[in-house]
Amino acid sequence: MGDDASVFRTTVRIPTASGDDLEAWVYQPDGHGPHPAVVMAHGDDFGLQLPPRIAPVQVIIIPIFRGEAERSQIETALQQVLIDLEDIRVKVDWRDERPGFKFNEWELKGVPLRIEVGPRDLAKGEVTVVRRLNRAKQPVPLGDLGVTIPSMLEEVQEALFNRARDFREAHTVRLDSLEAIVKFFDTSVGFVVTPWCGRAEDERIVKERTTATTRVILGPASGAGQPCAICGQPATVEVAWGKAY
Ligand SMILES: [Zn+2]
Repeated sequence: MGDDASVFRTTVRIPTASGDDLEAWVYQPDGHGPHPAVVMAHGDDFGLQLPPRIAPVQVIIIPIFRGEAERSQIETALQQVLIDLEDIRVKVDWRDERPGFKFNEWELKGVPLRIEVGPRDLAKGEVTVVRRLNRAKQPVPLGDLGVTIPSMLEEVQEALFNRARDFREAHTVRLDSLEAIVKFFDTSVGFVVTPWCGRAEDERIVKERTTATTRVILGPASGAGQPCAICGQPATVEVAWGKAY
């Protein structure tokens, strides 16, 4: 997995009816040609969720031990695990804190997968893997981690992508006039898709009236001779407008 931090466009906070803000990333996934912007809106009661491709730490390993003997037993077992996972951004948290504290902290940071490993796991030749996505726990044999972890990261990536797409579809409207855009941003949260001629002057006007800016070009204008929603000149592209909070 490459370092795809460059796909970040912007981070926005979206207030929700429940009063808890959602943290959202607008980004463009790689590798599939021209692509609509995807709003990643992944927050829950336990903090953020980072899509594996852009997570600085993809897998956090939490050793669970009492005393030096157990610690060195785990350390030995992890040597091979770290070799098997060398293509993954893995971190082992050896800090002198309670495991529950560490679980909580890494969940808040949105790390996609957590590996818990203690003497009882090692006695069975396995570890416990926990998905940040839904907190599902799964025992995985030590020797399988090199195969299982990358495929679990892919699964999480896909699940978050689908969730983001659903969110985007539910929070995006298509409008065709400046007045409608102004009204939308006065009263609603989300993104507005319009035909646009591409002129910077239009961006200035929209920003002045709504504080929203262009987020991403979605593709060429859908019909020939379609007027720009802002100025009425012929549109060349479809663009998404949104606010950064
Ligand atoms: Zn225009």
